Amino acid sequence: MMWTRVAGGPADKEMDSKLPGVGTTIFTVMSKLAADTGAINLSQGFPDFDCDPALVESVARHMREGRNQYAPMQGVPALRQAIASKYETFHGRRYDPDTEVTVTSGGTEAIFDAVAAVVRTGDEVIVLEPCYDSYVPAIELSGGVPIVLPLTLPDYRVDWGAVARALNPRTRLIILNSPHNPTGAILTREDVDQLATLVAGTETLIVSDEVYEHIIFDGAQHESMARHPELAARSFIIGSFGKTYHITGWKVGYAVAPAQLTTEFRKVHQFVTFSTNTPVQHALADALASQAGLRDLSPFYQAKRDLFLGLMEGSRFTALPCRGSYFQLMDYSAISDEADSEFAIRMTTEHGVASIPTSPFLYKSQAPKVIRFCFAKKDETLERAAERLRRV
Ligand code: GLN
Repeated sequence: MMWTRVAGGPADKEMDSKLPGVGTTIFTVMSKLAADTGAINLSQGFPDFDCDPALVESVARHMREGRNQYAPMQGVPALRQAIASKYETFHGRRYDPDTEVTVTSGGTEAIFDAVAAVVRTGDEVIVLEPCYDSYVPAIELSGGVPIVLPLTLPDYRVDWGAVARALNPRTRLIILNSPHNPTGAILTREDVDQLATLVAGTETLIVSDEVYEHIIFDGAQHESMARHPELAARSFIIGSFGKTYHITGWKVGYAVAPAQLTTEFRKVHQFVTFSTNTPVQHALADALASQAGLRDLSPFYQAKRDLFLGLMEGSRFTALPCRGSYFQLMDYSAISDEADSEFAIRMTTEHGVASIPTSPFLYKSQAPKVIRFCFAKKDETLERAAERLRRV
């Protein structure tokens, strides 16, 4: 057990942490290191270009018009309506905006709420590693037991045989993520069919982190749980406006789930944040109502992926497949034997490009010699970064 000193705490004694293995997130650590050293920051996932100015104007207008007090706990009705319409357009599934859609203060809040709403002490939760760093702490804070299964290298596929062996009556939840952070892998139709077969007749629920739903490449279809009636019936689907509208700092996301699950979800949401930023919700409702631009996001980011890959040709890094999200994994085994965290830090301090190691997303597996680069950046940023990376 790791002990943390708490100065001035009760009797200033040692604190028995609920999350002894958890430090500050790697995103905060690497972004700070990039800022401190003046490195180009391809670590934490956020665009270095601005959002549509009309969206900013729209927030300002809603503020000027006096929409500055608490939003309804479940979200502004027009935004919930727009989210529901989007699911109908994209996936042919109707969610009731009143009882099945909840707006949250970011995707991370929604993931936490869903886990906390359904996981009891001793419940098992299957996660697939590398997995986003908020999942396991959310499970542990709820008293759940993470059952960590590795995605299989080199293309980070789900081993459904291993999932089948892990599933048992104590399995309360499976947490899935497609397009996948940090690997850029996606679930295919076959994956989702296998999942449906495995969970049929069980009590197991699903949290499906689909925050990169509109960033998917090479003509692939995003296999939302919403497309599959048996899976939708047991799924919390998590979305994020940060990724879709280039506004990660606005921290607005949502969860869609059948009414019974949404009822439990809202019991947690109302005591975590109560409600989410009002004028921003109104502006997003206006933007999402037309669904304009949603289908442009994949080609936009595919061009950035391809630019980055082209620029990295001639480097000693080897790109792994990236089928969605705005993250590109690169194998550096031709350059160094260092562990990934050491290598990522040295790349930042000595070569001026910050990245994210995958070890913070791993619990059981040995970290491979790969690091994650975010390509949600201006072309000139990618060009400058690649020029430095080609010299490594
Ligand atoms: N989702 C972002 C990433 O993967 C980070 C979000 C955060 O910093 N909490 O880079």
